[in-house]
Amino acid sequence: PNYPLRVRGHTVKGFGRGSKQMGIPTANVDPEEVPEHVLRLPKGVYCGWAQVNGETLDKGVHKMVMNIGNRPTFADGGGISVEVHILHDYGDVYFYGEQLSLLVVGFIREEMQFKSIGELVQRIQADIETARKGLDEEDMQKFVSDEVFSSR
Ligand code: ADP
Ligand code: MG
Repeated sequence: PNYPLRVRGHTVKGFGRGSKQMGIPTANVDPEEVPEHVLRLPKGVYCGWAQVNGETLDKGVHKMVMNIGNRPTFADGGGISVEVHILHDYGDVYFYGEQLSLLVVGFIREEMQFKSIGELVQRIQADIETARKGLDEEDMQKFVSDEVFSSR
């Protein structure tokens, strides 16, 4: 892919597993709003930057990890989903219905099927650390001022 990839889309409700079952909330992006070329990317985990465009919410551009795929560990038949965990503590708030601005800048790993949810969670924690470090690099910082993000 030709990074960076820009995506704007609203947050929709998923199965509610991210936060409750795994302790890692993922904002599910309305698939109708995700461009075809992004839905067709190799399934797996990506990293980049994210901003939530909500009146009362934190307006910062933060690091994120993004999963594109079918959640094979859960085998829920839910089809392809695009989910983003933002490396920022928004408190106890949900921001369903709010628009997300996303800039995808790199690939972390391919989709995998884990034997247990515990193993999946461990791997996601490692992916988050990979993203945290990778996005600290100087050539990744410039993306924070990308046109996809609104300055408010
Ligand atoms: P769902 O299955 O409905 O996506 P989750 O348990 O994955 O439910 O929780 C996701 C929701 O949590 C997001 O839609 C968002 O409103 C909220 N949320 C709070 N903090 C974060 C965060 N740091 N990253 C992603 N989503 C967050
Ligand atoms: Mg989710």
